[in-house]
Amino acid sequence: MITLDKFYINGEWVSPDAPQDMPILTPSTNAQVGVVSLGNALDVDRAVAAAKAAFETFSLTSKDERLTLLRRLADVTRARLDDLGRAISMEMGAPATMARAVQAESGLGHLEAFIAALEAHDEEETLPNGDIVSYEPIGVCGLITPWNWPINQIALKVIPALATGATCVLKPSEHTPLSAQIYAEIIHEAGYPAGVFNLVFGEGPTVGAALSQHPDVAMMSFTGSTRAGSAVSRDAAATIKRVTLELGGKSPNIIFADADVDAMVAQGVAECFDNTGQSCNAPTRMLVERSAYARALEVARSVAEHQAVDDPALEGDHIGPLFDQIQYDRVQAMIQTGIDEGTRLLAGGLGRPDGLAQGLETGWFVRPTIFADVTPEMTLWREEVFGPVLVMAPFDTEEEAIALANDTDYGLDAYLSTGDEARALRVARRLRAGGIHINGRGSDYGSPFGGFKQSGNGREGGRFGLEDYLEVKVRPPFAV
Ligand code: NDP
Repeated sequence: MITLDKFYINGEWVSPDAPQDMPILTPSTNAQVGVVSLGNALDVDRAVAAAKAAFETFSLTSKDERLTLLRRLADVTRARLDDLGRAISMEMGAPATMARAVQAESGLGHLEAFIAALEAHDEEETLPNGDIVSYEPIGVCGLITPWNWPINQIALKVIPALATGATCVLKPSEHTPLSAQIYAEIIHEAGYPAGVFNLVFGEGPTVGAALSQHPDVAMMSFTGSTRAGSAVSRDAAATIKRVTLELGGKSPNIIFADADVDAMVAQGVAECFDNTGQSCNAPTRMLVERSAYARALEVARSVAEHQAVDDPALEGDHIGPLFDQIQYDRVQAMIQTGIDEGTRLLAGGLGRPDGLAQGLETGWFVRPTIFADVTPEMTLWREEVFGPVLVMAPFDTEEEAIALANDTDYGLDAYLSTGDEARALRVARRLRAGGIHINGRGSDYGSPFGGFKQSGNGREGGRFGLEDYLEVKVRPPFAV
């Protein structure tokens, strides 16, 4: 049994103000694997005070000093990737291979991109009018991260704070504390000064809200549900904090008949099911040109029926369980809603998949599911399911495809496939989303990640991620 009963504050592992324990459950069996202590507003006060004190000196460090620390952070991260992968797999159910090679590895990928961005970043520039602009760290940052891509999200928030000379308090999802604890150990070993990075476990409405409301916190960066993101914005409003949000999505995937339809449909289904559908930018609405629609349904059904669902402890390219009972019940309810609304069930459906290995019956495994002929007034068109559930619909013209794709409150990513470059650029220009994938290719580490509309604001990663953590200061050239 793993016991996480300390917070990382001011460079030390310290006990919570008042003990309050919560079990850590593993999604593949729902068995308890550990216990984590949850904090309160006094723990947040302690962590913010440490970050505020550390900001006095860390904000004045040179770019070279910060680059040296980041390179050490990369060395230690590389040495702990296996530990991170194992922790992520155990706490949120990503299969071993993916947990190590994609989830854990993202912590390093983002770090290397931030290092490159900081190397290229000019901390001062002279404007055409002769005035001088300098970019300075914003202050103490409150960082709140979710359970679905635990290290990816921590890296996208913690590293730009450290890179710019800001200081921070991290509240990870208390349901995924194992990887967060290892990340704090990595930062400690890399040699960051006390107070620059602080970690407090706890619940959103207590620890998260205390951070968002804290008068000494200058900025909040949040990833999670739209509901919680709007709570963070409200809590932060009284003290006029900068707030960046990375929220939900219902990303469209437009496939024109002149694309490699079989390959793009197969990839689109696999990307929707990846991480058991628990990715904010998953392509969950597949729109296919009518002349290719029947073929697309055939390919999609076959991919779904062959999608292996298995134990996350095993290596392989299967998908694992959903994260917890709340997610399981929510995904079942969404599938039931699809059925109740008369949507055509093409693959999967309610309940657990057949043939699960013995011992996994109590895990949160679901059937990869596809609904066909879904229309915009249906719930599954509009609401994020956060499970391996794809909806498909035909379109007749390019204009209709664009209108259907944009018919959503969200705008995180949009996917499109066509053999015609001019059309790809024309359609990409009109899709209301922060990231466009073309013919199966998305963007790389270091590119901006974030959304239009209710998918949030701000951009994470690389240069754009650094800018979110910087204030702008202007002065005239010196003269007497
Ligand atoms: P939440 O948005 O509740 O959780 C994300 C993080 O926000 C957690 O650390 C959570 O803490 C914290 N939080 C919750 N409420 C507040 C608050 N009032 N103030 C500050 N922080 C808060 O996601 P859920 O786990 O409830 O998942 C529900 C749905 O959200 C999913 O089904 C999915 O649709 C969406 N989601 C989207 C994600 C994305 O990547 N965009 C990631 C995760 C979920 P705590 O753990 O205590 O709740």
